[in-house]
Amino acid sequence: MADGDDTARSTTTTTDPVADLEQRLADTAATRWTNQWAELKAEVVDTGLCTGCAACVIACPHDVLGYDHESGGYHPYHLEDELGPDDCIHGQKGCTACTRACARFRLWEGQADDHLFGRLRRPDEVAGIYHDVLLTRASDDAVNAAGQDGGLVSAILLWALEHDYIDAALVSYLEAGEGGAGSSWRPKPGVASTPEQILAAAGSRYTYSANTLALDEAIEAGFSRLALVGMSCQSSAPPVMWSRKVGKISKPIVFNLGLLCSKTFDDAIFEELFWAKYGLARQHMVKMNIKGVFQIWMDDGAYHEINLKECHAWTREGCMYCPDFAAEHADISCGGIGENSDWTLTIVRTDLGREIISRMIDQGVIESKPGDSDPGAIALMRKLAEKSRARWPTSAEPAVRVGLPDPSVRSKG
Ligand SMILES: Cc1cc2nc3c(=O)[nH]c(=O)nc-3n(C[C@H](O)[C@H](O)[C@H](O)COP(=O)(O)OP(=O)(O)OC[C@H]3O[C@@H](n4cnc5c(N)ncnc54)[C@H](O)[C@@H]3O)c2cc1C
Ligand code: SF4
Ligand code: SF4
Repeated sequence: MADGDDTARSTTTTTDPVADLEQRLADTAATRWTNQWAELKAEVVDTGLCTGCAACVIACPHDVLGYDHESGGYHPYHLEDELGPDDCIHGQKGCTACTRACARFRLWEGQADDHLFGRLRRPDEVAGIYHDVLLTRASDDAVNAAGQDGGLVSAILLWALEHDYIDAALVSYLEAGEGGAGSSWRPKPGVASTPEQILAAAGSRYTYSANTLALDEAIEAGFSRLALVGMSCQSSAPPVMWSRKVGKISKPIVFNLGLLCSKTFDDAIFEELFWAKYGLARQHMVKMNIKGVFQIWMDDGAYHEINLKECHAWTREGCMYCPDFAAEHADISCGGIGENSDWTLTIVRTDLGREIISRMIDQGVIESKPGDSDPGAIALMRKLAEKSRARWPTSAEPAVRVGLPDPSVRSKG
């Protein structure tokens, strides 16, 4: 086996997949980590596992990774010509930052679980490890109204800023429309350090926003305690970076808010479906949501529903194999499933997440109900988590599929 090859199997492989993973994590920890861009490109980017989270891009200390923001892109690529696109001269000299940052490289899930929770996910935990599930909403009507669901994410950021947990957050803004009118609905990663900025960034866009890319801007502005708001794929990046000791780049992220996610769409959906088939111009859209159908509100008051099956063809490539619906490595994961549209389904995962949510409830900043008050939402969360997990290829790291029926056992009938 090559030095640093954490696919090395223990000779004492067991039939218990969790015990097997524990053994392989121990083997990895005992082996020098030598993996660089050549391995990342071959095993993650070229195999389609890459989500476009951009963690490798921000982690690269030599700034030789670029990021393709265009439709059909959302992937990292190597900027130097010396060794071609598949290898890296700095990697050959020992730089391993990009593979240490990647939350789809090899044992990423087990390493993040172990680092965050001190144990591995059990087969019944398809939606990840958590303390509590709640339904919450911002008590302040303006925050609730600005939010996509209950406004919880924005309420947490406002509260965490005020109570000195963070000094800024990495969020997603919307680019202004042509001539400054309305919005183009193109998301733009950015830094929010004031209540006005937090509220300006509220709401969901269903195309990809690699909020991690705003890290440099935040550091340049002098912020050192950051919340990362991001899709499930992005929220695995900080714990993976911490567990693999990527270094100082991961230190400023102190709080991790994840958004539940089945998929994002390629930006081309605006022109090729919404405009071409339905005559809905992006600059006249004022709000969108997904509740069984794609809902679009226009600036003339019109409301449209588009069947999700029609939208599938524009699923972003980076989502095709994504196994994580429930943002399993965030401190708090937030979603819109549930019977009440202005509440946020809230999965409290870490001790830090629990501390923040408890203090906010005690202070009346948010209202909360037990998740059990909406059993349908919990059942749906589990079903969607299983569905996403089943996308993870059987040819990739097997532990990610723990909890799914064995694909080699065909159901009868
Ligand atoms: C692409 C996408 C898909 C989603 N899919 C599901 C789903 O299938 N099921 C489900 O239950 N919930 C899903 N959600 C989560 C849901 O839409 C809400 O974001 C969540 O319930 C929090 O609502 P809120 O009112 O508390 O947040 P808000 O207070 O509105 O705050 C939302 C935060 O998310 C950030 N944000 C918005 N869009 C993006 C983006 N594209 N990328 C990164 N950050 C962004 C904003 O900057 C803001 O800080 C999805 C969200 C997105 C963005
Ligand atoms: S998943 Fe993220 S960290 Fe991994 S290669 Fe893709 S962009 Fe880089
Ligand atoms: S489905 Fe969501 S969480 Fe998964 S890769 Fe796509 S955007 Fe990221």
